[in-house]
Amino acid sequence: MDPLDIVGNLNNIKPVYQPIVSAIRHTVFGYEVLGRFYNDNEWHSLGDFFQDNEVPEEFKVEVDQHLLYIAISDMIESNETGHLFINRNAKQLLVNNGDDLLQSLIMFEKKGFSMNRIVIEVTEHDFEEDYEQLIHLLLYYKTYGIKIAVDQVGAKSSNIDRIRQLEPHILKIDTRIIRNRHSEGFQDIMYSLSMLARRIGAALLFENIEDDYQLNFAWKHGGRYYQGFYLAKPGFDLAAEEVLSVNVREKFAAYIQREKSKIEDRLKHVWNWEQKMKNLLSKWEGTKKVDAFIDAVTAQFDAESFRMYVCDSDGQQVSSNFRKHDDKWKVELDKLGSNWAFRPYFLENMMQMKTWKRGILSDVYSDIETREMVRTFGYPLSENDFLFIDISYSYIYENESLLL
Ligand code: CA
Repeated sequence: MDPLDIVGNLNNIKPVYQPIVSAIRHTVFGYEVLGRFYNDNEWHSLGDFFQDNEVPEEFKVEVDQHLLYIAISDMIESNETGHLFINRNAKQLLVNNGDDLLQSLIMFEKKGFSMNRIVIEVTEHDFEEDYEQLIHLLLYYKTYGIKIAVDQVGAKSSNIDRIRQLEPHILKIDTRIIRNRHSEGFQDIMYSLSMLARRIGAALLFENIEDDYQLNFAWKHGGRYYQGFYLAKPGFDLAAEEVLSVNVREKFAAYIQREKSKIEDRLKHVWNWEQKMKNLLSKWEGTKKVDAFIDAVTAQFDAESFRMYVCDSDGQQVSSNFRKHDDKWKVELDKLGSNWAFRPYFLENMMQMKTWKRGILSDVYSDIETREMVRTFGYPLSENDFLFIDISYSYIYENESLLL
C-alpha cells in the first residue's frame, strides 16, 4: 500500500485494542492500541507502514495522532478506567522534540484522561541510535506521569545499561522466544531480566502468549501483565472482561495449586534426607574419623548423590572427596584442604544450617567440574562441621519437583 494513500485517507483508519491482563487482580489492566486501514472491503494491519523505514516519520506521527485521538475518545466515552499502551519509535518521537504527543495528552488530561494512564512503548532496538536524546525525552515525559514500557526487551543484553538509565515502568517480553521449550539460554536471559526488573522496579509484561504453556511460563517467571491471542485478539471494541477467551482466574488458581504441590514434593525430599542424616548422626565421631563417616553416608544416598564431602565453618574441606565412578564410590584425597567459602551463597547457607540446625537445599546450578545441572544438600554435623551432598542431574531430572 502506498503510504500516501494511507496518510491521505485518515477516515479509513481505526484503532483496534488488545487487552492486557493483570496477574494481581485478574482483570484487564489496559489495551495496546494498534492501527487498521480499510481498503478493498477489508481491514489491514498498519504494521508494515509503521515499520517501513522509507515512510517519512511525519506520516507516522500523523497516523498515530489520529489513532490516539480516537482511542482516548473511545476510552472516555466507554468509561474505561484502564491504561492505553501506544507504540512510538525513536525517530517518530523525536520529530518536533516529541511535542505533538505531549500537547495532545495535555489537552486530553483537561478532558479527564489522566496522563498516568498512558504507556508509551518504545522498542529496545530504538536505543541503538539517538539514545541520549531519546532517553532525555522519555525521562521528561515521565515527569508528567506518563509511563514507559520497553518493548521486545532481552534481544540485546548490551542495552541493559541504557534501560537501567531510563527506569521504565514496564519491560515487555516477547513470549515467542520461549517456543524452544528446553532452551537453557532463554532461562538465563529470563533470570537476568527479572533481576533487572526487580532492581529498577519495573513490571514484566509477557506478550504474544498463544497457549496455556506460555501463560503458565509467564506466570511462573514473575509476569505481572499478559497479552496475546490466547487471552484476547485485538478488536475494535473496548469491552474489558467479556473479551477474554480464557478464565484467567481459574487458570491462575490451577497454576498456584500445581506450584504448591511441586514445592510440597520438593520439601518432602529435603525432609526425607534430613531424617536419614539424623539417623546417621550417631555415627559421627568428629573430623578425625570423617572419611569413615562419609563412607556410611554414601550407602544412604546412593540413588541421589554422586559426590560428597565435609567442610568446616570457614569453608575449608576437612574430608576427602567421595566421588561415584561407574556406580562405585571412590575416595579422592587431593581435595582435602580446599577452601570453598568464595562460592556464591556458601557462607550464607552454612550460617543458615548452623543457626537453624537443619539441612538446606541449594538452588540449581551448573557444576564447575561436570558442567551438569546439580543441587547440593547441606547438613550440619556439629557447630563446626558441615556435610555437603551433591545431588546428581539424573536424580533431579527424574524428580521434576527438584528441577526448579
Ligand atoms: Ca508493542
